[in-house]
Amino acid sequence: MELDMHKPTVLVTGGAGYIGSNTAWLLANKGYQVVILDNMRYGQHFYPSWARVILADFADQTILDQLFTHYNVQAVMHFAGLIEVGRSGKDPSTFYQENVAKIFNLLNKMREYQIDKFIFSSSAAVYGTPKRIPITEEDPCNPVNTYGNTKYTVEKILQDYSHAYGLKFVALRYFNAAGADIENMLGERHEPETHAIPLLLEAADKGEPFYIFGDDYGTPDGTCIRDYLHVKDLAVAHYKALKYLDIHKTGIFNLGTGIGVSVKELVATVKRITGLSVEIVVQGRRDGDPDRLVADATKANQILGWIPEYSYIETIVADAWGFYQKKDISMHCDSDQHCQQRSTF
Ligand code: UDP
Repeated sequence: MELDMHKPTVLVTGGAGYIGSNTAWLLANKGYQVVILDNMRYGQHFYPSWARVILADFADQTILDQLFTHYNVQAVMHFAGLIEVGRSGKDPSTFYQENVAKIFNLLNKMREYQIDKFIFSSSAAVYGTPKRIPITEEDPCNPVNTYGNTKYTVEKILQDYSHAYGLKFVALRYFNAAGADIENMLGERHEPETHAIPLLLEAADKGEPFYIFGDDYGTPDGTCIRDYLHVKDLAVAHYKALKYLDIHKTGIFNLGTGIGVSVKELVATVKRITGLSVEIVVQGRRDGDPDRLVADATKANQILGWIPEYSYIETIVADAWGFYQKKDISMHCDSDQHCQQRSTF
């Protein structure tokens, strides 16, 4: 896609990833010019016709200078970063570098060019082990893993930048992103995959076991309860957050449904939707897994006017299954021209 220097533009870092690509597509459909900055660390090959994709790191100062000088960038949505909770505890240096230190390059370049709207992918991991369910934004934040610490640290940085430099920001605390946009084939392609739904689908498809991490939690069936949110609903929340920043300065919002689903309920749903059997093996607990994480998203409902539309567990699993079955043949290159790797303008 050739860029128009006057058209309102949103920079989407990590836009070749799961949530970033779904949001970028929605923004393009809403009439924004979308520039995706992504280093494609997971080996994606993502060059759709509806966005300009730059294969580079989000903290690349030269690229940011070019982008902010020549185009009408009105906001930055920041999805880039590391997400594997387990790895974060083993390699905090890399996690703090990627998720925290590098953000200064981006925020300071935004300051230099007076770009003042920033939307940040935060996480329910900032809460750690909650004292009560559902969790509101006012509840204490005590992350129990390095990943959660990096997200909470960035929220603090954004607050300080807002006070001192007038940055406008929204931090969106995602609960469990899941599902896919099967029309546009935008879904989860993590390498390695650690998330329950894609792993369950793979187990069902390949006739391999699915490992449940603990069935001795204080929940009705003993397995952990999570709040699964369709990625298409997540994308809409980002668009609403962008509009919110037209009139407000800062906001922190939970994004979830308020409905908890246990791992065993997930297994039953996968069996029902796929028509396949799943062999279950119960293992020990995974470190840092609270028994329940369920959002109170009243604030996002009322203030952003955001109401999830697709986040029924059946719809989520059906869409994830549709994506799983086709993901190996879908490429995301709408033409040869778009498939050429580019690192500059
Ligand atoms: N889980 C599991 N087996 C797996 C992957 C996940 O039992 O192979 C459980 C995990 O312990 C958690 C829930 O499924 O209770 C959701 O995990 P996921 O990694 O998808 O998301 P998280 O809640 O960690 O963000």
